Amino acid sequence: MKANADNWGNEYGYHFSVYSTPSESLTDRFCRMDAEKFGVIEDITDKEYYTNSFHYDVRKNPTPFEKLDFEKDYPQYCSGGFIHYCEYPVLQQNPKALEAVWDYAYDRVGYLGTNTPIDHCYECDYEGDFLPTARGFKCPNCGNTDPKTADVVKRTCGYLGNPQARPMVNGRHKEISSRVKHMK
Ligand SMILES: [Zn+2]
Repeated sequence: MKANADNWGNEYGYHFSVYSTPSESLTDRFCRMDAEKFGVIEDITDKEYYTNSFHYDVRKNPTPFEKLDFEKDYPQYCSGGFIHYCEYPVLQQNPKALEAVWDYAYDRVGYLGTNTPIDHCYECDYEGDFLPTARGFKCPNCGNTDPKTADVVKRTCGYLGNPQARPMVNGRHKEISSRVKHMK
């Protein structure tokens, strides 16, 4: 893909590039299109989403170091943009764990996102990780789903989104719900 993009650049005089973080809804759309064309295939189209770009399969459970090692060779082919990220539990008691990953990443990757739960329930004051439901997310303590009193923040794609206030497409919601933490 990178070679093709470079060839088109030479041919047309414009810069073409591979963009490795697809738009928010592509994770859903490409999977739906492939399901229509190729049918429901176990572990591929039956999940109803595709994992973004060169990212490690969101359902698997590598350490942050293994995840970065797997992904670090791809960005050189993706001059249109990329991001790495790791999923963490609440780490307010253990900032050294985050520092260890950042130190490891510093010489290996160019752009690293840190996903750690900062959801907040203004009904019961719970702070942490809201639970995925069929349609959105709910407070694990009191079950609150009201976007006016539930602040839910998830990494939608490269950026952070608030799925309670602005619901995501089905495939993106499934993808986020399938994510496994990369630290116990
Ligand atoms: Zn609550």
